[in-house]
Amino acid sequence: MGQGASIVSDTPGTTTDPVEKTLELDPVGPVVFIDTAGIDDEGALGALRRERSERALDRTDVALLVTDGAWGRDEEALAEAFAARKLPYFVVANKVDLAEVMPGSQLPATVLDALAGRGIAVVAASALLGRGLDAVRERIAMLAPEHAIAQPHMLSDLVPPGGLVVLVVPIDLGAPRGRLILPQVQAIRDLLDGDQMCLVVKERELRAALERLSAPPDLVVCDSQVVLKAAADTPPGVPLTTFSILMARLKGDLVELARGAAAIERLGPGDRVLIAEACTHHPLADDIGRVKIPRWLRQYAGGDIEIDVAAGKELSDDMAAYALVVHCGGCVINRGNMLARLRAARRAGVPMTNYGLAISLTQGVLPRALGPFPAALDAFRAAAKGA
Ligand code: SF4
Repeated sequence: MGQGASIVSDTPGTTTDPVEKTLELDPVGPVVFIDTAGIDDEGALGALRRERSERALDRTDVALLVTDGAWGRDEEALAEAFAARKLPYFVVANKVDLAEVMPGSQLPATVLDALAGRGIAVVAASALLGRGLDAVRERIAMLAPEHAIAQPHMLSDLVPPGGLVVLVVPIDLGAPRGRLILPQVQAIRDLLDGDQMCLVVKERELRAALERLSAPPDLVVCDSQVVLKAAADTPPGVPLTTFSILMARLKGDLVELARGAAAIERLGPGDRVLIAEACTHHPLADDIGRVKIPRWLRQYAGGDIEIDVAAGKELSDDMAAYALVVHCGGCVINRGNMLARLRAARRAGVPMTNYGLAISLTQGVLPRALGPFPAALDAFRAAAKGA
């Protein structure tokens, strides 16, 4: 990191929870480094530490297997775990400075040959002296998957250059003081990058703003919580969607999440639903995940549904117990992490949808909100027909 990040010690087992630091890494962009505990850890907490370390792999785009000359069962187990997840990785042979005073302390030639034979790059480095770190950074950039580097369009591909998008941003108690939330800022930046224009209004002003325009906008994007009002105030010929649906496309798999929304049609009294949020935040009185979505789901299903909330970096291990997972927009996690969550739900045989899709469905405007995304709308309709 080039800076002090955490207290270290020679005593095995000192690192327990993964330590995270962010860094702007050219040309990849903002990167989160996760330093996990070793997986060779024995003792009472060893299994827990190992589990935490392995879970970090679900949030990882590139893995660095750091060794100070050891290569044995544990390193091979890690290499297998990376390969099983199709995770690009390389080996960092750290502490090269020691080799000068302790010949033979580095990876043996036989191991180096074997790794080369398997196409696994090894970068010699000394974290202590800062040697080899440029090569480490270059190798990370080389292995970073396309989705981690490329800046996919959030919405600028939906409108022509010079087009106009109206963004509907409620400023209510849930809005952070003095700023816009990340998806709203990202949308503005993406439109500026696409040489498009945007007009940002609160939901109360949408109708008046549209009336003042000499031509209809190319798209209206609203916060999911006001989708019903925005759909009523936007002329039927104007495409409309929500920030949350845009996030579902940007971070995850919109088609699969739209298919998952059809499971709401099948919900009945007694079913269990998991509300999953990627960050922890202090819930407000009328919290979207804890109060509003549960209320709308219960009204829609016409009975009592048991609802659990999982907030934070890891999803419940017990997803099979649920009839549906409703995930937030995941603005603080990367696409790889969101796709890993989708895969986990698929493995558990549980459909997953997201906040924007679930809200639009329960408000009766999902076909309209999915209008700009025909493949997702078709997937939803096909899945709903099978219901
Ligand atoms: S991670 Fe999810 S819950 Fe947290 S702010 Fe972003 S969308 Fe909301």
